[in-house]
Amino acid sequence: MMVPSLTFQDLKLSKPLLQAVQEMGYSAPTPIQKKAIPLILGGNDVLCIAQTGTGKTAAYLLPLLMKLNYATGTHPRALVLAPSKELVIQIAANLETLSAHTDLRYACLYGGIGPTQQIEAIKKGVDILVATPGRLLDLHHREVLYLRSIKHLVLDEADRLLDMGFSAQLGAIFELLPGKRQHLLCSATMSAKVEKMAEEFLEFPEKAITTPQATPVDTVQQQCYHVPNAATKANLLALLLADSVCFHKVIVFARTRKAAEKVTHFLQRKVEGEVRVMHANKGQNARINALNAFKEGTVRILVATDVAARGIDVIQVSHVINFEVPSLPEEYVHRIGRTGRATHTGAAITLASEAELFYLKKVEKLMRQKVPVVPLPAGLVVTATSFEEQQTILRAIDWQRQKEDPSYQGAFHKKKRFIIKKRHSKHK
Ligand code: AMP
Repeated sequence: MMVPSLTFQDLKLSKPLLQAVQEMGYSAPTPIQKKAIPLILGGNDVLCIAQTGTGKTAAYLLPLLMKLNYATGTHPRALVLAPSKELVIQIAANLETLSAHTDLRYACLYGGIGPTQQIEAIKKGVDILVATPGRLLDLHHREVLYLRSIKHLVLDEADRLLDMGFSAQLGAIFELLPGKRQHLLCSATMSAKVEKMAEEFLEFPEKAITTPQATPVDTVQQQCYHVPNAATKANLLALLLADSVCFHKVIVFARTRKAAEKVTHFLQRKVEGEVRVMHANKGQNARINALNAFKEGTVRILVATDVAARGIDVIQVSHVINFEVPSLPEEYVHRIGRTGRATHTGAAITLASEAELFYLKKVEKLMRQKVPVVPLPAGLVVTATSFEEQQTILRAIDWQRQKEDPSYQGAFHKKKRFIIKKRHSKHK
């Protein structure tokens, strides 16, 4: 369906907001902004489904700022909940620029640093809180937060909030809020959990949906290499990244912290340009510094785990490389959403071992499109797979077959039973 060509003026934004939007260089509202802004201004509960990088943050912040209008009292009137510190910081950066010509006050609440500054900010009086659920509850327990004044609640990246096991914390937070409030639920994917949450918490919601479920942004060119083992994946990564002109701003995703560290050490030895790592075990400052250096361009390659990279908004990421296929298909969509943001193009490259093709199939099913497989480049050193790694791969494939077909006995289990039997017979 065609969305009429509305301008920001048509959306009836106030002068200070129009000025901010102009200063941000936004010439026209994005499709999700065209759909969501009028619905939110109308006071409805809104379920907002849009791909990452499509201007979703401004789609809810602009009408929220309109509704709050100017600084009032000391207690917060709007609460934005997000699943990670990085996303909180990023939302706040949007808030800072979009509210630049208003007197509205906001505070960011997240863990990993002491609460003193955050408590001081709250005490000075705030209109908007942007918070992770844990730190919000922590500060409430310290009796420094009054939440009965909240009139608007936004759950940003609701799918992630639900995936990451925040649901008990969310329940506790809802108990602290007044009954009458506007809810905005934002998500990149319309998962069953999001749907259930929308049913439970939204009242006669309006829907602002701009894309079919989990379709990756059109500006991202995807491809996949079938790679036999981790050592060859590392060789391929180094070979690709040797082209620092084409691969000028790259995020490499690894599934675990350990893998992220290993890949980082390898790349630091093998490729040009600075390589930094971002995972949940890194201190808050190290993570923010790595991200800022990557944004500024002093760091060419950022190696990250999913948790650390959630919602990161960096303009002109040239490539996202999946060192492993994520086991949750939604995660793939989030990862590749880091490139091709707004109007830029980008590429997503996935390195998949035989055991990971199972997860790739799930990704393709969710996206309703195939990820093209490309042949391994000439000049790649293909390392022989060690016996241990081969066993791990076979075991994983065996487990996948069993999962898909419960009647399948499983070669490994059979063998194990056989060994146990043999041992028993020895003892007899
Ligand atoms: P988001 O989906 O909120 O993470 O936004 C992705 C990127 O799009 C951010 O860098 C925003 O600053 C940018 N953006 C948001 N709205 C617009 C717009 N109307 N025109 C151009 N860029 C935008």
